[in-house]
Amino acid sequence: MIFPVGGVDVSIVEFLAFSLPETMELPCKVSPAAISLEGTYDIIRKQCNSTQLLERLLARKTSDDVKLLGVTDADLFIPPLSFVFGEAQFDNPASIVSTHRLQQQFYGLPEDSRLLYLRCEKEAIHELGHSFGLIHCSDYRCVMYLSYSVEDIDLKTNSFCPRCHGMLRKRTKT
Ligand SMILES: [Zn+2]
Ligand SMILES: [Zn+2]
Repeated sequence: MIFPVGGVDVSIVEFLAFSLPETMELPCKVSPAAISLEGTYDIIRKQCNSTQLLERLLARKTSDDVKLLGVTDADLFIPPLSFVFGEAQFDNPASIVSTHRLQQQFYGLPEDSRLLYLRCEKEAIHELGHSFGLIHCSDYRCVMYLSYSVEDIDLKTNSFCPRCHGMLRKRTKT
């Protein structure tokens, strides 16, 4: 289940709802009720606290076998890190991705919505992978590779390497 968090672009959420089921081999729906950013904003950092948003997502849990993915345009941080593209915790069905630093405009470059969609998709799959208990992968082409920059994200694919894919299958199929 995808939850818009704050005022995120609806077309990105719709793109993810369309593309994620193929890679994750699971159905995906968009929640009609967005999650508020209120109270998670740090005035000094000008960023929102990612971990607080995960708690808000978790509060929306209605069933044990549903994963909750938040998508936001707010810039996210987890102390002490300066920023994160997203966050997920092990054994927690909630995860979140931010489009903020995935946009070319953030780096002073012309807007490229296609590239933005692809980056969002990879980061969403990555965080969902964590929700299913997957750890980081050393294969730079695998979607579970830890990306420190958009260049890293652009280099990896939107799919799992055979090893990660095998682990995912074990956890999604009973
Ligand atoms: Zn990760
Ligand atoms: Zn892998």
